Amino acid sequence: MKKLILSAFALTVTAVAAQAQAQQNGPETMRPQMTEFYTPVPKVVTPGDITTNSAPSDAIVLFDGKDLSAWTGANGGPAEWDVHDGVFTVNKKKGDIQTRESFESFQLHIEWCVPENITGTGQARGNSGVFLQGLYEVQILDCYNNPTYTNGQTGSIYKQSTPKANAMRKPGEWNVYDIIYNAPVFNEDGSYRVPPTVTVIHNGVVLQNNVAIRGTTEYIGHPKVEKHGAGPIKLQSHGDPSEPISFRNIWLRKL
Ligand code: MG
Repeated sequence: MKKLILSAFALTVTAVAAQAQAQQNGPETMRPQMTEFYTPVPKVVTPGDITTNSAPSDAIVLFDGKDLSAWTGANGGPAEWDVHDGVFTVNKKKGDIQTRESFESFQLHIEWCVPENITGTGQARGNSGVFLQGLYEVQILDCYNNPTYTNGQTGSIYKQSTPKANAMRKPGEWNVYDIIYNAPVFNEDGSYRVPPTVTVIHNGVVLQNNVAIRGTTEYIGHPKVEKHGAGPIKLQSHGDPSEPISFRNIWLRKL
């Protein structure tokens, strides 16, 4: 009996020692190469010139300073905003414009400038906007010393999400938006299975950090969820009486 007890004790000691050894060394068969991947290989993209924000090699150039050939009127017909001096300026009589091409998820670069002689207050001062897939507005407004409701200021997801900062440059200087957008996934019944999400960087400052969009942009009432597919980038011709803003250097990378 004494021999049996000793044998059991020896076995237990051996098992405990082996367990301690395994904990110390980790799984015996793991090697560094087992957690290193070689495919898929990320494609080579030549970056643009960082001092001019020029388009990377794989971007779709939506405005290069020459013409609005990538754009159309949002209600049909040609895009009739005013191209001059390598930029284009909103023509408030001609309505919104949108890209001819429709997109799902993307990275968008777009630069905009409030004129130096801007007048007006609140929402009636340099109001425009970038509509993602034609439905969800990232607000453009002159918010340089111009208070308004916070979920309607520059870089808000209009009436849904207040920006984390106010990074406005003063009128006459160029502002830069870099927008990373993930298109929604829908359920059969038209509700979001995965809502659209967006990150907005304004002049290098994060205003929206992977924010879930609740639905369409509505001036009156709550956002609506409407099933949709790929959509254009739409720029807003706002009805406010202030001097129109300008855009330049617009490019997009599909994600
Ligand atoms: Mg607007």
